[in-house]
Order: sequence, then structure tokens, then C-alpha cells
Amino acid sequence: MRKQTVLSGIRPTGYLHLGNYFGAVRNFVKMQEDYNCFFFIADIHSLTTHPTPENLQAGVKQVLAEYIACGIDPEKATIYIQSDVPEVTELYTILNMNAYLGELERTTSFKEKARQQPDNVNAGLLTYPVLMAADIIIHKANFVPVGKDQEQNLEMARKFAKRFNRMYGKKVFPMPRPYTFDGKDMIKVPGLDGSGKMGKSEGNAINLFEDPKSVRKKVMRAVTDSGPTEMNQKKPEPIQNLFTLMEIVSKPETLNHFEELYNNCKIGYGDMKKQLAEDIISYTSPIREKIISLLGNNEYLAKVAKAGAEKARESASATLNEVKEVVGIRKLY
Ligand code: AMP
Repeated sequence: MRKQTVLSGIRPTGYLHLGNYFGAVRNFVKMQEDYNCFFFIADIHSLTTHPTPENLQAGVKQVLAEYIACGIDPEKATIYIQSDVPEVTELYTILNMNAYLGELERTTSFKEKARQQPDNVNAGLLTYPVLMAADIIIHKANFVPVGKDQEQNLEMARKFAKRFNRMYGKKVFPMPRPYTFDGKDMIKVPGLDGSGKMGKSEGNAINLFEDPKSVRKKVMRAVTDSGPTEMNQKKPEPIQNLFTLMEIVSKPETLNHFEELYNNCKIGYGDMKKQLAEDIISYTSPIREKIISLLGNNEYLAKVAKAGAEKARESASATLNEVKEVVGIRKLY
């Protein structure tokens, strides 16, 4: 049976952090075994925030190296850079003709961005969901692994795909569905500042690329309290967060050891943090070393980007040709 297609993208605007890794990329590595996966670097999307050319280029290279270092295998999945596939922006232009101002203005992500950058409410921000829809449906993706924050954008992609099919009376696009992880794959990585979630914009992230000194510094600064006063006391959120992180990166016996100390009111958070920092470093160091080595190998990265672009273009141009035929863009020569 033909494998179902999965698509996911990430904007090249920063380093991957532990939340991205455990909540998303680690699962992509598993998915590439069972699905026809497309993972792309959304450099055109990131232009909406006007990065400097140098930052944009460096960001693209960094994300590419990070994806591969995390275990996404260019032989198994198609990794490509969005701007290498001009068919995407061509489909975006066509889809824009059937995307309406009202519905775009009502999108939560647009309203949020417009609030965040009031001096730069550009048309690209408004039509962001249209470009995202083009990214997804150009490969006729069946599944998109999305976080809660992206659900509405996926809903818009379904709407545009359905509208196109209906308008032209042809089932060109399958409906992309959200791919949700379950059980132990559904991890939310907490922040070290006592907040519920580690995130780039929360400013509390530990990156995979973080050097050991900086990991230690960030972990040692984690918010704690003066310690439990009763046996088996319930943990307040900042303390629970430390334990949750330990559960993710440390050995079960290490976690048990600190659980026991906590339950017996004998815990020293300093010791726990030292251990947690070392366990994070043990986890991230091999990935960090791979990232560094890949960043020094321009030739390999170029080869991966080129091969990914070719595979993605093959899939994208097949869809675009079908779309053009359907809408009546047909050559006279
Ligand atoms: P972002 O960098 O916030 O755009 O996140 C990209 C993806 O990484 C999200 O859609 C989530 O699937 C995942 N992710 C980000 N932060 C976390 C977190 N703290 N815990 C679990 N998953 C996360």
C-alpha cells in the first residue's frame, strides 16, 4: 500500500530547544519510518518579520543541520528549503484568489501578530495561512503534526483545499488531518522559570545547541522554593517542572532517588539541579557535536538541500500542473 504523506515545517528563526525536540522533532524521526515525510524550512514565512539577510541565511543552515543532527534522515524523509520549491509560491498565488479578506483578518494568529508587530502588519502576515495551505496541499499531505497553536491554520488549509475542490468540481486535494501524538510521545516540556511550557518566545528555553556551561547556568537559575515541610507533600509547579525535566532526560533510578529525597523532606535543590544539568548535557552533547560537525560541512548540507529540493519539486510540480489544468491555465504553445 502507498505510504501516507506527512508534512511539517519550521521557521528558521532560532535554535531548536528541548521542547521542540521532545515535543516534535523526536517524533518526526519515528514517523519517517512509516510515512512519506516532507520536512521543510520555512524561510519565506519568516520574511514576514523582516530578518536581516545574514540572519536568514544562517538560520536556514542551522535548522537544516539541527534536523539532520536530531536524526531526520535525508535518505528516508525529504528535507527541503521552502524557497527552493517555487511551485509553492505559485500555488499560493492561485489560492490567494479564493481566500477572503474577512476570514484572513479573523485568524487568531494574524490578530496576535498584528498586536505583536503593529508597525509591520504586512500582507504576508495576512495571507500566512494561505502560504501554509500551499505548503501542505502541494504535496497532497494526509497528515500534519501540529501543536495546539497551529490547529486553526490547519483548519484554514482544509477550508482552502475543500473550496478549491468544490469550485472546480474535482477532488484535486485530499483533506489534510492533524496528526496528534499519544501516550508517551505526547510530552510537554516545562520551563525552568516556573512556567508551564518551555518556548522560544517565553525566553526560558534550553537549546539543543546550548554549550554545557550555559546549560549549567540556566538550570542552576531555575525557580525553586524553600523545600517540602511534610512527608510526601504535593509538588508546587516550579518543583514539579524540575522533576518532569528529570523524567525526560535522566535515568529512572536518578529520578527515583530525588523523588525519595523530596518525599522524606531531605532534598537539596542544588544537588538536584547539578544532576539535572549534567543529564541534560549528556543528552544534548552528542546532538550538539553533530550540529557543529554538520555546520562545518557546507558541501554535505548543500548536497542534502539540493536532493531535497529535487524530490520536493517533483512532487510539487505534479500537483501544480494538475491545478493549472483544472483552473484553465493552459499553454498556447
Ligand atoms: P515553536 O518553536 O513554538 O513553533 O514549536 C514548534 C513545535 O515544537 C510545536 O508545534 C510543538 O509541537 C513543539 N513544542 C514547542 N515547545 C514545546 C514544549 N515546551 N513542549 C512540547 N512540545 C513543544
